[in-house]
Parts: sequence; structure tokens; C-alpha cells
Amino acid sequence: MNNIIVYLLDDEPDLLELFADVVEYAGLEARCFTQAKVLLKEVTEFETGSILVLDLHMPEMDGIEVMRRLALMNSPPALILVSGLDTGVLHSAEQLGEAHNLEIIASLSKPVPIGEFRELLENHAKNVENTPISPKKIESSAITVSELQCAIRKGQLILHYQPQYEIATNKLVGVEALVRWQHPEYGLVPPDHFIPLAEESGLIGELTHWAIEQVVYQEKSWQAEGLYTAVSVNISAADITSLTLPEQLATLLAAQELAPDRITLEVTESALMGELITSLDILTRMRLKGIRLSIDDFGTGYSSLSQLHRLPFTELKIDQSFVSNMTEDKEAKAIVRTCIILGHELNMTIVAEGVETEDQLNLLRQMGCDIAQGYLLSRPVTADKIIHLQHIEL
Ligand code: C2E
Ligand code: MG
Ligand code: MG
Repeated sequence: MNNIIVYLLDDEPDLLELFADVVEYAGLEARCFTQAKVLLKEVTEFETGSILVLDLHMPEMDGIEVMRRLALMNSPPALILVSGLDTGVLHSAEQLGEAHNLEIIASLSKPVPIGEFRELLENHAKNVENTPISPKKIESSAITVSELQCAIRKGQLILHYQPQYEIATNKLVGVEALVRWQHPEYGLVPPDHFIPLAEESGLIGELTHWAIEQVVYQEKSWQAEGLYTAVSVNISAADITSLTLPEQLATLLAAQELAPDRITLEVTESALMGELITSLDILTRMRLKGIRLSIDDFGTGYSSLSQLHRLPFTELKIDQSFVSNMTEDKEAKAIVRTCIILGHELNMTIVAEGVETEDQLNLLRQMGCDIAQGYLLSRPVTADKIIHLQHIEL
């Protein structure tokens, strides 16, 4: 018997009994509660690896309030959300949980599919068992601004490149540059651990400058090897306030004798919410110089349709949250389909991010999506590997 504890909170006693049977069948220990306030009074600290199966709709204290209380605890349990209401409610609850930094394993509609529930429990138990206890768990808060500044200057940052394939031909048409930090103590640190700090501290300008320069030199060196692929680089909100960026980039490209349409700048949808006039000025001048522009993580921000029409984007990247759910979830599928139609109407190339399964790829193909990027095709790799990844069989 595994020592993972599964807390079950639902105001329907019959359902609790059924859940408890499934939990025990999966070899885990069940603890049942019909009232949130009793659970929160009795359990002030959750064991590592524990799970809470949380019914959202309960009298007195509902699931949303329970999540708010859990967020204040030192080690909250991972959550499986359950609701008898429509899937839209589950989605917003999931987002709220993530905003509170809670781990959401899944959300399930009632009547709960028992097989799927059991599988989720078993997979979670396996993951917990297989998670090595890292000798030095990296915490973003442990990184200081001066450390990051040193890293940029000492050359500890490195770019990996993730291939993008044209869905109709399986051919490599581009790569996305993704930064990592080769940290002397922590190993390879992913960007989510230091990009926010770079943005808050004003270091992002220097980081972006470094990344763009690397990408331009890399593109030049690939072309020398006979590899002609476009390359995308991510820029942040603060970068589209720097009025000289278009000229800097154009000068850099001209010095390397590279065509500007080989470079795409990716801007997240949420980065566009700042000063619209300045970003419109900068982005328009980028386009005038022939540099391509992509709107990243599309669907997660709040850009209005008229804004999308006004901004000179050449590419739309559908956020991976929709792609990863599109085969099971009809709302996600509708969003993906709508993004493709909308983008095509506005003459944009459509890229689907986070493609992990063949079913997703097939559905994207049927829907007329142009380009796919994701672990199914290739993970981000070092620059020297790209030459071997020009075509894939699927
Ligand atoms: P993004 O631009 O949306 O990049 C896509 C992220 O999804 C990458 O994470 C990539 O490794 C990951 N990914 C790709 N395919 C799959 C898949 O099939 N499944 C899953 N689960 N994930 C997949 P990564 O490298 O950790 O980068 C995270 C974010 O950090 C990027 O999101 C981007 O917003 C930011 N970032 C990365 N490099 C830079 C940079 O040089 N400058 C700036 N400003 N931001 C950067
Ligand atoms: Mg990107
Ligand atoms: Mg993205």
C-alpha cells in the first residue's frame, strides 16, 4: 500500500463512499469529509503528495473558498476538482486554482468517470514516487538580480531551439529560440524561473538584446551550412517600449547580410495590453523593415478583435492550453477552430503550440492549421541538432 492520502470532500455521502472505494482500489488511503469547515479544522497541514478531491458546489463553504484557504497553507494538496455544473465553471475554477499556485491534477464533470478517476490517482501516485528529492531545489526567489546580470554578462545563458513543422509537408519551416540558464549550482534552469525577475528588474532589455544577437549569428551560421530555416525569438512587454529596437535589429541583420523576413519576433498577447500607441509605433516599424511578428499564447490575453486587426502581425500562435485539451474538450476545440479561421481571414500563418499527440496533430490538420510545434515533433534542442531535424515522418 502506497502511503499517499486522498482527502475526499463532497456533500453527497453516497458519492463519497464510491470515491473512497476507488481510492482504496487504487491502493491509496481515503479520508472522507462532507463539510469543508470540518476538513479545514481537522487537517491543518497536508502530507507531501496528498490529494484533495474537491466538489465545487457545496452548501456553506464552496470549493472556490476552500481553494482560497488552501493557497494560504505551506504545503497544500494537489487537487482534483469535481462539479455537476457545466465545464465552463470547471475551467474558471481551474484557472483560479492555478492563479493561487495550487497544483490542479484534473477537473472532472459529474457523473464522475470512475475509470478516469482511478487512472488519475494511480498516475499521481507513480509521479510522486518517481520524483527525486532534489538536493538543491531551485526556487525563483533564491535568484538575485545581480546574479542574473552576471549570468548574462558571463555567458551562462544559452538558447535552445524548438523545431516548427509545416503540417501539410512535415518539413521544418522554422525554429523558436528559448533561453535557458546554465547555472553552476542548479544545472539547466528554465526561463520561467528568471524571465519574470528580468522583467521586474529592468534586465530584460539586456537579455533580449543578447538573445536577438545570438539568433542572428546562429541564423548566419546555419545558412553557411546550407540550412535555411526561419527563426523566432521571444520579446517581452518592456521591449516594445524601446523606440530604437527596430533600427538596432535592422542594423544587426544588414551587417550579417540576412533577409529580415528570416526573423520573427514573438510578443505575448498580454504584453500588448500596455501602451498601445508606443507598441503600435514599434511593431509597425518592425514590419516596415520586413521583420515578421507573431502573437504568442493567443487566447490567454484580452486583446479585442479590433486591436488584433490594427496590429501588424503575420503569425498567430494558439496557446498550448487549448491545443492540449482540444481532443477531449469541445470548448477548447471550438477555440482552436475559431483561432484558425480568424487568423486566416486576417492573412496570418497559424502555429499550434504544445502538440503532444498524434490525435491533436490530425485534428489540427483537419482544421487547416499551418504549422505545428510541440514535444510530439521535437523538444527544444541545441543549435547543432537542428540540421538533423529538417524533415519528420508522421
Ligand atoms: P513560449 O514562448 O510560449 O514557448 C513555448 C514553451 O512551451 C517553451 O517552454 C517550450 O519548451 C514549451 N513547449 C513546447 N512544446 C511543448 C509541448 O508539447 N508540451 C509542453 N508541455 N510544453 C511545450 P520554455 O522553454 O520553458 O519557455 C517558457 C516561456 O518563457 C516561453 O513561452 C516564453 O514566454 C518565455 N521565454 C523563453 N525564452 C525567452 C526569451 O529569450 N525571452 C523572453 N522574453 N521570454 C522567453
Ligand atoms: Mg514563444
Ligand atoms: Mg507560447
